[in-house]
Amino acid sequence: TIGMLALDANGDLAGACTTSGASYKMHGRVGDSPIIGAGLFVDNEVGAATATGLGEAVMRMVGSHLVVELMRQGNSPEDACRLAVERIISKQKDVKDLQVGFIALNKNGEYGGYCIHKGFNFAVQDTTGKQLLDGKSKF
Ligand code: ASP
Repeated sequence: TIGMLALDANGDLAGACTTSGASYKMHGRVGDSPIIGAGLFVDNEVGAATATGLGEAVMRMVGSHLVVELMRQGNSPEDACRLAVERIISKQKDVKDLQVGFIALNKNGEYGGYCIHKGFNFAVQDTTGKQLLDGKSKF
């Protein structure tokens, strides 16, 4: 999945995501990415979040919506992503082969991410295009 979250100069949030789905997926499988609330959720009053990883696990928790609601309750973007990942983990018997990650951005421009296993990266740019985080070090 490629997920993007943005906060513009007026303070408005936006998000988008795209995916090729899962490897060797069943014909007709719909992952989390096209489902609002699962793969992507934006609430212009609070923040935005997007997911990557096993879509079935994300959909079961309506993961991106969960991250935004956790930010609404006062959690930082990174804490919200971590708490959502922990919720997903708590419903799984075994996470050895499960990867799920979220990134989030709040109305103040604070951002964060979290995933189960190392391997996902994200990048951050400011309005001038200056790279604030190269995405290699975060997860
Ligand atoms: N979330 C996607 C899916 O389950 C997979 C991915 O992260 O690309 O369809």
